Amino acid sequence: MIQDKDTHFMHEALKEAKKAFEADEVPVGAVLVHKDKIIARGHNQIELLQDATAHAEMLCLTAGASVLENWRLADTTLYCTLEPCCMCAGAMLSSRIRRLVWAASDLRLGANGSWINLFEHKHPMHSIEITSGILQEEAAALMREFFQKMRKKNGAKTDLSALGAID
Ligand SMILES: [Zn+2]
Repeated sequence: MIQDKDTHFMHEALKEAKKAFEADEVPVGAVLVHKDKIIARGHNQIELLQDATAHAEMLCLTAGASVLENWRLADTTLYCTLEPCCMCAGAMLSSRIRRLVWAASDLRLGANGSWINLFEHKHPMHSIEITSGILQEEAAALMREFFQKMRKKNGAKTDLSALGAID
C-alpha cells in the first residue's frame, strides 16, 4: 500500500520533471504531499529565473509553506525525482518535512550518500525518514535523454554544471 502511494506520487513528480525537460531545464521535479494530497508542485527553473536556488525542491517547499501558511511543513512527504543537493537537503531539514522520497542518484551533487550524506547524522532538531530508488529508472532515463538533447542542440557549449548530471 505504502509502495503504491509512493509510486503514484513519484509519477506526479516525474510529470513536473517533464515540464522542466520541455523548457530545456535540467529535468528535476518535486511534489509535496500532505494528508495523501498533493499541496504543492515544483520543477527546476534555474534558467528561466536565472537563479541558482530555483531547484524543484526549493520551489516546492516554498509553495507548500504558502499553502499551509506555515513554514513548518509538519506531516508532509516530499517526492523528488533526483537525490537532493546540499542546499535542498538543508532546506528540507529546516522546513521539518517528515519524509523524503527520491528517485535517481545524483553522483556529483547528491547529499544523501552519492557525494556526501547530510542525513546521516541525527539532526539536533529534526530527522527525516527517507526512501530512495522509487521509479529510479524512469527518472534517470529522463536525465540521460535531456543531456543527449542538449548536447545535440548546443554541442560543446552546454553547461552541465548548474545541476548534477547523470551520464
Ligand atoms: Zn537542490
